[in-house]
Amino acid sequence: MNTIPLRVLIHGASGRMGQALLRLAAESPASWQVVAAVTRRPPAQRVVEGVPYFAASELGGVPDFDVAIDFSLPEGFDPVLALCAGRGRPLVSGTTGLEPAQRQALEAASRQVPLLWASNFSVGVAVLNELVERAALALPGWDCDIVESHHVHKKDAPSGTALTLGESAQRGGAQPRYASLRAGDIVGEHLVQFAGQGERIELVHRATSRDIFARGALQAASRLPGREAGLYTMRGLLFGAN
Ligand code: NAD
Repeated sequence: MNTIPLRVLIHGASGRMGQALLRLAAESPASWQVVAAVTRRPPAQRVVEGVPYFAASELGGVPDFDVAIDFSLPEGFDPVLALCAGRGRPLVSGTTGLEPAQRQALEAASRQVPLLWASNFSVGVAVLNELVERAALALPGWDCDIVESHHVHKKDAPSGTALTLGESAQRGGAQPRYASLRAGDIVGEHLVQFAGQGERIELVHRATSRDIFARGALQAASRLPGREAGLYTMRGLLFGAN
């Protein structure tokens, strides 16, 4: 339990996830002080409910912080990674659709600061990944298909979570295929289907609130300050596994 609130920078603050993070942080003032909310276009009034807003172009001038949380877009990722590496501060990022070069930059920066990138911060999806790997191991030769559904504004496809589930299936020996649906305001649904002759198994996760991702990211962010440089995982931080 922190006695002094952690100073957090929220990157992508005006977005769906950024807004959920700001709301949850405001609900726990003993744990969190938002010292910078960074967004592509900040509001005209630069301080909103005590939170100072900065434009992405002003990132270099933000005040000191203990940890940064990034839920932006791939084009916003490099600057926030560079900021954290330069200032020696930890970063939690849930931004999906990163290019391979950006993943390599993340690996390189993890030699300087503690970092955690996850395609999904929900506990349910962490368990789903375990189930998918076990099912794939037990069902050699079955077809494996991953169908993901998200709101119409989502930019990347397949989703980062679908790709992570695919990696779990591959570890179990399956060769997954992907399908993506973009419809309405769906927060996020992932169906992993294993189909054999005359039978099939469907494993489904449905997110009905973005708060599950925001809570997971805040939980992870509270555990990074003071740690050694490295690339941390949700499983490692939350469940002590690696
Ligand atoms: P959104 O479009 O609602 O918000 C994006 C935010 O990023 C906005 O505040 C925008 O101003 C900011 N932004 C865009 N370009 C920027 C730049 N160049 N520099 C700084 N800020 C910039 O998106 P969202 O639904 O909030 O999702 C954000 C990201 O998080 C997406 O990549 C999404 O796939 C991912 N996501 C991850 C998880 C997870 O658990 N890992 C969960 C939900 C969403």
